Amino acid sequence: MTYLGIDIGGTRLKAGLVDENGRILRTALATSPASRESLQATLPPLVRQLLAPDHATPAAAAFGCKGIIDPATTEVRTMPGVWGFLTGLRLASLLDGILPPETPITADNDAKAALAGEAAWGAARGHRDVLLLTLGTGIGGAILAGGQLLRGAADVAGHLGHICADPNGPICICGNHGCLEAIFSARAIEADAWSAMHQGCASPMTAILRATPEALSTRFVFEQAALGDPLAQGILHRKIRVLGACLAGLLHAFDPELVILSGSIADAGPALFEPLQKEVDWRVQGLLKRSVPLVPSGVHDTSGVVGAAALAFRLPVA
Ligand SMILES: [Zn+2]
Repeated sequence: MTYLGIDIGGTRLKAGLVDENGRILRTALATSPASRESLQATLPPLVRQLLAPDHATPAAAAFGCKGIIDPATTEVRTMPGVWGFLTGLRLASLLDGILPPETPITADNDAKAALAGEAAWGAARGHRDVLLLTLGTGIGGAILAGGQLLRGAADVAGHLGHICADPNGPICICGNHGCLEAIFSARAIEADAWSAMHQGCASPMTAILRATPEALSTRFVFEQAALGDPLAQGILHRKIRVLGACLAGLLHAFDPELVILSGSIADAGPALFEPLQKEVDWRVQGLLKRSVPLVPSGVHDTSGVVGAAALAFRLPVA
């Protein structure tokens, strides 16, 4: 049996056929459209192209997408920011006429999809209490509590990027101030490096940024820190401290067995995980009296397709 997973991401659309062991059989990619009409024009041919080689008929299909999604209807309920054009769209309508009408289709927030993927085939397999944070351009989150994905009263639960890290902190996409995402995210890390350069702070990193502004990325800041740049090290030290403090609060609230950190910033590996684990550990010793492991994603592909396919995998199939 195969499952169709579709990830609607900020920069690209990706559709994939996934088997019942969570392995991707093949994928199709397109650049993310900037309007609803463009999405409606781009996605159906992409899926047709994916299914065409062997006329695949997936047992079920699912979408992972930013925002607040109703899994029963696949409607995008709330989508802040530039992707607001998706609000009100029933994602399943993008597959009209492509799959047999009886094919079950669902959709969910992309971080919840990622945790479903980890629970089925990755680092959360066999666990009942797990937190997941996607550390990228923004911060997504999802909570497995007692073996169930926590949804809350209106499917909003799990937006861990919008817990408050500093009530007087920078403004956030959600309209609040000082959300974790506004302080620890790729955008926030890059903004600090840029600000240091703009303010005339001298260091090897700011000298490179002055000469080649396009070099700026979160990976670049981590690389500069590894090379010994004190400014880059200082930025990451402060950011990791904030993330660690927020994670400690989450551990006290949810008492998970482990925390999965995925996304582009987690690709930094030990440069992130080691100082972060230390920061979290001392903060939870008093109440939890144990170290809760922070671990990377365990699925075969973290692009979002496997997570979406896991949502489809969980659907009852006739
Ligand atoms: Zn926020």
